[in-house]
Amino acid sequence: MPLYDQEALEKFRLSGKILRETREEMRGYVHENMPIIEICEKTEGLIRQKGGKPAFPCNVSINEVTAHYTSPPGDTSTIPPNSVVKVDLGVHVDGYVTDTAFTACFNPEYASMTETAQIALKAAIDTVTDGVSPSKIGGVIETTIKNRGFKPISNLCGHSVGRYLIHAGASIPNVHQVTFGKLRAGEIYAIEPFVTVREAYGAVDDAPQKTIFRLVKTKSTKSPQAKQLLKYIEDNFRTLPFAERWLQGVLPKEQHYDAFKELITTKAIMGYSVFVEITKKPVAQAEHTVLIKEKGCEVLT
Ligand code: MN
Ligand code: MN
Repeated sequence: MPLYDQEALEKFRLSGKILRETREEMRGYVHENMPIIEICEKTEGLIRQKGGKPAFPCNVSINEVTAHYTSPPGDTSTIPPNSVVKVDLGVHVDGYVTDTAFTACFNPEYASMTETAQIALKAAIDTVTDGVSPSKIGGVIETTIKNRGFKPISNLCGHSVGRYLIHAGASIPNVHQVTFGKLRAGEIYAIEPFVTVREAYGAVDDAPQKTIFRLVKTKSTKSPQAKQLLKYIEDNFRTLPFAERWLQGVLPKEQHYDAFKELITTKAIMGYSVFVEITKKPVAQAEHTVLIKEKGCEVLT
């Protein structure tokens, strides 16, 4: 039984096409010393121009920062020279989510590490077919990375995607570990190996900073401003992640800070911690979204 009808699959395919085109345009756009916010806004703008919506804020994660950083409003930070820059982007078309990432490497020392993320992703994709276990794919990713002299990030996973869902419940590990269930034809997964150097610990931890948020519950708010902001979030993003940047102009500037803070403190919305490699070693990432077939898979991105 396919999980999605033909119409839904076409929306996933369109979502993936928009994402692929955007990723390839962004590959040539990212350079050293440029403001990070320009990368975020350019990516999200291209997605909208092409008829999609960002499924989450464009993540720009530098060196040991592994995931979940997007520019806060007015971000002045720039791409440092000699850095390893992961750009992770997502699109939804009518809720149908696809997810991809690439790494721009400005340090020749980490070129092989960056290439390894792509090679591990390719090896994983070549393993995907109906009935394969997530642990087998994790094993292929781990072995591929280790054979090239690097180390996988063990506590970040690929994930099934769905309608208005970026993490739809099932995971694909980046190491060989015991998992339950199997991949089935008709399911859609994002596969995303993260690679670091051999001497790193090979796992991420939460950093205090939070730049990406999502709705938790629509509850009664104290101030009318918080209520208005929450309604905007619900109407525009549902439960998909959003950036504080995307709320600019909803309220007068002087009212925004308190209203946003109220939504955080009352847990109407939650923030995702930025992930940092525990030993502060640089990390590279590659990611595609694939549709599982009876034989093999279709790369949507
Ligand atoms: Mn991603
Ligand atoms: Mn992902």
